[in-house]
Amino acid sequence: MTFRDLGLMPSLLKSVSEKGFSQPSPIQQKAIPFILEGKDLLGGAQTGTGKTAAFALPVLQLLEKQNNREHYPRALVLTPTRELAEQVHRSFIDFGSQLHQRCAALYGGVNINPQIQQIGHGVDVLVACPGRLLDLVNRGHLDLSRIKFLILDEADRMLDMGFLHDIRKLISLLPSQRQNLLFSATYSDSIRKFACNILKQPILVEVSKKNEAAHQVAQSVCHVAADQKKNMLIKLIRSEHRAQALVFTRTKHGANKLAQHLDKQGIDADAFHSNKSQSARTNSLNRFKNNHIQVLVATDIAARGIDIEKLPWVINFDLPNVPEDYVHRIGRTGRAGETGRAVSLVTPDDIHLLRQVEKLLGNSIDRNNSAEPIPSDESQTTVPPSDPIPFHHRKHRSKKNTTDRFKRRRRTTRSTATQQSA
Ligand code: AMP
Repeated sequence: MTFRDLGLMPSLLKSVSEKGFSQPSPIQQKAIPFILEGKDLLGGAQTGTGKTAAFALPVLQLLEKQNNREHYPRALVLTPTRELAEQVHRSFIDFGSQLHQRCAALYGGVNINPQIQQIGHGVDVLVACPGRLLDLVNRGHLDLSRIKFLILDEADRMLDMGFLHDIRKLISLLPSQRQNLLFSATYSDSIRKFACNILKQPILVEVSKKNEAAHQVAQSVCHVAADQKKNMLIKLIRSEHRAQALVFTRTKHGANKLAQHLDKQGIDADAFHSNKSQSARTNSLNRFKNNHIQVLVATDIAARGIDIEKLPWVINFDLPNVPEDYVHRIGRTGRAGETGRAVSLVTPDDIHLLRQVEKLLGNSIDRNNSAEPIPSDESQTTVPPSDPIPFHHRKHRSKKNTTDRFKRRRRTTRSTATQQSA
């Protein structure tokens, strides 16, 4: 199937081809025709599946066809984080480069005045975080009464982050005649209830099974004693010859400390979390995207939304307290058909968190032999300069060999962990 088969107009086909997309992804194939027909949609898709284009392309087409350039916004995309708002905004700008739709990104943590000015000039598409949007509405700068399209992106995350009240308030300001699209990576009861209240006879489009982690991510677990976690992390990072890694910690303080520790060990790293100013966050993310730093140490705020092309791996330095966050974290790698790896460092105290994640996924990561093994000899506490076996060679090892070594490694690591924690 091609983008042309989906019924997209020539100017959008041109932008899509300029972006280098040769074929629509499954969520795009399924969702775009229904959205073009004007149907409400409940999309079960995590980031990395191409869901942004799945809604941005048809919404841009419908707006362009309406051909009534008004002063008031006609499409509203709500996102949980500023980074996601920026990314979605960027996509609307890129895809709409041949069209006449004006797009603005509205989020907190930055000066509100340029946003007020931009709205004043007239905007067709708003991509916004709920808090700043409400602020602008309450100050009288925005009129949402002409909105024809409401898109709730990463709706599960917005509920997790406590935006339900704000979203309800915003929806009460919208006209009842509108098309609604809701995307969520996970399906909890609260999301189901929320969707029922907003969507009218929605088409259900799913690209992965309920709560399933990205297929193309090879996941593995490294059992390690708490006091050996940092050494193990450094060993893993060094083993990949400067491959970039997104490392997750549970706390902001932990992220700061770990980034500093890595820096001291000669590994360029930045921390990324919500206590940092928006400009510091943008700066760190850009440094990471431009390969100026090897490691970004982040809390779960980064687990959603941010899109870093071809990120080879994610390391869970700490497992998350909420098992759903694991799915979002590992979704940062293995994006849009690329393969990726996710390694979780698990201390004896965190085994229960691992079991919660496995329960959610419906399988055991511990026994996942498709994962690339951790470099051998975990009992060693000094950190070697690099792994003797380059990654591209390791990929060609036979499966049986990998499996045996993986089992052997687990036995070694387990006994090491036990000794060290005793
Ligand atoms: P998303 O799930 O919307 O965050 O998209 C994830 C990544 O996939 C982004 O970098 C997109 O540019 C890319 N992408 C989206 N659709 C396609 C496609 N049809 N072909 C190739 N890459 C795509």
